[in-house]
This record gives sequence, C-alpha cells and structure tokens, in this order.
Amino acid sequence: MSDAIMATYSRLPVTFTKGADARLWDTEDREYVDALSGIAVCSLGHAHPEIAKAISDQAHTLIHTSNLYGIEPQEKLASKLAQLSGMEQVFFSNSGTEANEAAIKLARRYGSGKGVSLPKIIVVEGSFHGRTMAALSATGNKKIQEGFAPLLEGFVHVPYNDLSAIEVAMDDQVVAIMVEPIQGEGGINIPDEGYLKSIRQLCNKHGCLMILDEIQAGMCRTGTWFGYQHEDVTPDVVTLAKALGNGVPIGAMLARGEAVGVLVAGTHGSTFGGNFLACRTALTVVEVMERDAMAARAKELGEYFLKGFASLAELSGVKDVRGKGLMLGIELEKDCPELVLQALEAGLLINVTAGSVIRLLPPIVMTNEQADSVIETVSRLVKEFIA
Ligand SMILES: *Cc1c(COP(=O)(O)O)cnc(C)c1O
Repeated sequence: MSDAIMATYSRLPVTFTKGADARLWDTEDREYVDALSGIAVCSLGHAHPEIAKAISDQAHTLIHTSNLYGIEPQEKLASKLAQLSGMEQVFFSNSGTEANEAAIKLARRYGSGKGVSLPKIIVVEGSFHGRTMAALSATGNKKIQEGFAPLLEGFVHVPYNDLSAIEVAMDDQVVAIMVEPIQGEGGINIPDEGYLKSIRQLCNKHGCLMILDEIQAGMCRTGTWFGYQHEDVTPDVVTLAKALGNGVPIGAMLARGEAVGVLVAGTHGSTFGGNFLACRTALTVVEVMERDAMAARAKELGEYFLKGFASLAELSGVKDVRGKGLMLGIELEKDCPELVLQALEAGLLINVTAGSVIRLLPPIVMTNEQADSVIETVSRLVKEFIA
C-alpha cells in the first residue's frame, strides 16, 4: 500500500475495484461476499442502481450552494426523518462524529440556558462516539483517548447497562445521558430490556436530555428504523450517519421537545453539511428502505443468521452468540484478530472488534444463499480457531 497514505489504519492486503449488492471484486477480479457493509454503511448494498441514478441526476443538476440558501432535498429529507423517528428537527453534518459534536454542543447550550455552569454528560464504558475531540472524550475506551490529553472535561463514564451507576452519577450539573442503543465497536453489546426506558425515566426525573447515538444501530439495521423503537421510548436527541447515505458522506442530529430551539442561528454550522448531493442521496436511501421494507428484512435475516450460528454457542471456545437484526456478534474466549485475514482469504469480509468479538454487519439486501455461505465460512473458521 502507498507510503503517501498516513498509517491511521492497518489495512488488509486487498484492493476492491467494483461491487454489486452484497458482493465485491478485487484487482484480480476475485469475488467476495461482504458481511461488513463498509462498517454498517452500505446497507442497500454496493452500486445500488436507484442510489447511483439519484447521485448522477443530482450531480448533473446542482451539488452545493451552502446553507445560506434553501435546499429542497434537505427539507424533504428532514421531514421524512422526523416522520420516521418521532423527532422534530434535523441538523445535517458530514459524518457520525460531527453529528455527535453537534449533540454535545446542543446539550451544553441547553444546560447553559438553565443556568448550569459546569455541565456534565453521563456516558458509558465500552462506547464509541467518534474521533474528534469531544466525541473521543465521550468515548468509553482508553485506547482511543491515549496520547490526546487534555481531553474535554465534563464526561462522566459509568458502566454500560448499569442503571444504578447512572443514578449515583446524577446531579444537578448533568445536562444529558448519551448512549448507543446497542454498542457496535464495543462488541455488539445489547443492554437488558428496559434499559433505554429507564434512562428515559431518569432523564425526565432529573430534567436532562436523553441522547442516543444511533450512528451504527439506526437506519433499519437492528430490525426497526431506529434502535430505540424496540422499546417504547423517544429520546430528545438522536445522531445518525453510516447507512444514511449508503456511502455518500452524511450525518444528522435529530432533536425534539426541549432540545428544539437550543441551537439558533450562529451557534453551529457546516459548510458541506446537508448539501444537495448528500441529501438527495439519503432521501433516496430512505425511500428505498421504506418501500422495500428493509427494517422487516433486517429482522428476518438477523434471525436467520442467529439460527445458523446457534450450534456455535454450544462450543467450549465460544463465549456467546448474540445479535439484534443485522448487528451480530460471536464472542470467543480469546482474542481472534487473525480471523479477519483468514475470512478474507476465503472470500469473505468480516470484522473483529473488542479483541474477541467477530462482528457481522451484513448489507440488508444480502440473500439467504449469501447468508448461508457466510454462516458456513464463519463456522468453519471459528471451529478451526478454537480446535
Ligand atoms: C462509526 C460510529 C461513530 C463515528 O462515525 P464517523 O462517521 O466515523 O465519524 C460514532 N458512533 C458510533 C456508534 C459509530 O458506530
């Protein structure tokens, strides 16, 4: 790989040249099954014809004018997202971490409006919120923070899935609680049922905002449009990115209730955020997902995968097999980073996160036959690894 690329990623020895649905081809024209979707991004698969057409049409019409003027696809996308999410207003960014920066700024300004001078945001261990300074300070992973001190103040980390720890951390300086509905990078960690509902109640009781980072779990991946829709709750702030543009960079922060009207003119902005190209693409993504009932398909295919992997859970080197929709994790007893390269050599893209968790984030358009091949390859590699 080129020395001209800064080595912030340790890259696998493969370069892809084209894709279609859940398949990719490399420079040698070898075919692969993609069970990672560019890390939960290409949920509608690669080179989706309707998405490609929307991008091309919009590029031939108008790409960018800045947010100094009205942007019709941005307005349509915001309305559509509000309707699907139960939220009221949207701020558009270009990435997940920027959506979280916006949410953190919103929470601080909300606190400032209530006279809080040293605002705190409760966040959890094992979380991932992005790589910019505020988002990495919020992230509950020391490795990601190492070497970047001084971090931003005002984040209180508590264990995940632990309501009493939140209660203990709560005081009148707390302006928000921020969590992922299911932890992605952290290892596909699914909280107990009722966790989000109880967080909602705590936020109501203490007058702070409930912020959900749905960057990985949102957009149909877990079998509903948004992760919180598995429980009967509505957060105050939701952040999105990843699958929203199916690969065209776009992020969003959605707000409702008291979180609306906090960021007024001049308090936040983005040159590129929400431009014609990104919003037209994302609008098409949302329309295709809705028309093709992608949330239901993610649920169905997720159950198919879990059934296919069920026998692995019985093996002694396997700690757990878990998932919700198409956020799937197979946790082994020991670290298994080498499985990624072994899978690649077998023509399959997977990921290993948190050391010992095989993470699958397949495109929602994956067929059952492709899923069978993923189940077969992963099962074989796991059995060889633990043998
Ligand atoms: C990927 C991710 C982010 C960061 O998104 P970027 O677009 O890489 O900045 C934040 N939160 C969660 C939960 C993510 O999965």
